[in-house]
Amino acid sequence: MRVLRDEDADLRHLSSKTVAIIGYGNQGRAQALNLRDSGVAVIIGSIRDAGAEQAARDGFEVVPIADACLRADVLALLIPDEVQHDVYHRDVAPALRPGQALDFAHGYNIHFGRIRPPLEVDVIMIAPRMIGINVRKSFERGKGVPAYLAVAQDASGHARDIALAWAKGIGATRAGVVETTFAQETELDLFAEQAFWPIIIRDLLLSYEVLVDEGFPPEMVALELYGSGETAEIFRQMARVGIVKQMRLHSQTSQYGTLSRGPRMLPDAARERLRDSLRQIRSGQFAAEWTKEQADGYPTFSELRRAAEQHGINESEVLAREILHRAGLEEN
Ligand code: NDP
Repeated sequence: MRVLRDEDADLRHLSSKTVAIIGYGNQGRAQALNLRDSGVAVIIGSIRDAGAEQAARDGFEVVPIADACLRADVLALLIPDEVQHDVYHRDVAPALRPGQALDFAHGYNIHFGRIRPPLEVDVIMIAPRMIGINVRKSFERGKGVPAYLAVAQDASGHARDIALAWAKGIGATRAGVVETTFAQETELDLFAEQAFWPIIIRDLLLSYEVLVDEGFPPEMVALELYGSGETAEIFRQMARVGIVKQMRLHSQTSQYGTLSRGPRMLPDAARERLRDSLRQIRSGQFAAEWTKEQADGYPTFSELRRAAEQHGINESEVLAREILHRAGLEEN
């Protein structure tokens, strides 16, 4: 796998261009500020809301989305994936002209064909692997966060150069940029959300239910499982030193317990479920289900969220949060 760095990218591919960031939220604000600090001319396309006010306070010119699309050479659609389809068709598509580039931070809408830009337009993606706040914080410290880069349409013959310049402008090439496809980025992202995280979260909830049922104090269970911050630290050490090597930071009893019980808790047969999850993503089954859910007004999602918010663990973790705060560990 090739990792692209600062020396592979040239900011001049953005230097004579106007860039419009559509949506001044998590990613929009961070990427706009970083690009401006890198010398790129940035305007903000925004509906009239708190984001627009923040952008104006940050010193940006803020214009309606349709106007931004008319003025910009490169447009970044940094609005929630669920609204991109409507905003694209209402405000962006009518303004698109040959020679423009359309940038995304996630491949979902292009990959699943919910947005089909005209062939005369470049379609690129720079998808930071980090929340927006850290895209900015890291840049301010002279570093950057990793990102995926992809080109879905290269009408100008310079789509990849523009994407790389963008990645450099937001600081991503300081860390490393992985070249991929819209399909791979989308499938991997959805797989993590639908196959990896659900197992962790469900295991936390079931473990909580069993332990509380067996008489352990609920607050202590929440503290033990994740509330003390030790769980987050284990994940951090996995990234820092390695998934197996970090085990040496724990007692031998812990290591033996974890290694010997792992296959019992999640048998090899679980592979089939993981594959099935990937199949549902790749076939578009999940995307069709999610589109219908949105069109119906989120009935299942609302119910699932309501049930999750009513789970007893929510109350039990209040004490853990207070302890974490007193320990000063929140910022680690
Ligand atoms: P946010 O939820 O922060 O929303 C971004 C902005 O979109 C809002 O601040 C608002 O901008 C605008 N917006 C919201 N609703 C509408 C609407 N109905 N019409 C027009 N504008 C609207 O989005 P994120 O930054 O989290 O996500 C943006 C993209 O980045 C997505 O594709 C996401 O998958 C991707 N991404 C997000 C990451 C993250 O850190 N959250 C990480 C990597 C990729 P304004 O206030 O200016 O009107």
